[in-house]
Amino acid sequence: MEKEEKNQTTPSKIDVYHCPSCGTRLTYRLIEGWQRLFCPACNRIHYQNPLPSSAAFVYDREGRILLVLRGIEPGKGKWALPSGFIEIDETPETACLRELKEETGLEGRIMRLIGVYSQKSLMYRNVLIIGYAVKAKGKLVAGSDSRKADYFPSGKLPEIAFSSHKQIIHDGLKDIRG
Ligand SMILES: [Zn+2]
Repeated sequence: MEKEEKNQTTPSKIDVYHCPSCGTRLTYRLIEGWQRLFCPACNRIHYQNPLPSSAAFVYDREGRILLVLRGIEPGKGKWALPSGFIEIDETPETACLRELKEETGLEGRIMRLIGVYSQKSLMYRNVLIIGYAVKAKGKLVAGSDSRKADYFPSGKLPEIAFSSHKQIIHDGLKDIRG
């Protein structure tokens, strides 16, 4: 598991938020030791949390790992595990298999949880990634959000877009090799 980062990043000056209830511009206020978004009109705290996503670690019989070439930011033009944000009514497992299907055309089955990871992000500030080992079958077809999908020998991986995905690959391989 990746080291947990305890230090809060300084809220960016360019991030402007408005209250979803009354439209007043939110201010930052030190509450419970954290700089929190606060609506001075409603007297309400607007909590911010890491954005949850799922990633699929697919390892085939020949010892290769499934990667997708990302067609959108973040990580555009780099390879990554099939992954994406969890929709509001989804479980992490459902989101993982949906993203796998959308990005590679493959049908998957969750085998086990590899781990839960934290990734600092310029776009999303902090993303929570839940990594699963997945067994996949079907015909490989690159889909939405990805330009290509392919298997790579675990010893010859291209540059991986996200440090959290590198860690999932590392931990996933460790589980297999014991
Ligand atoms: Zn308000």
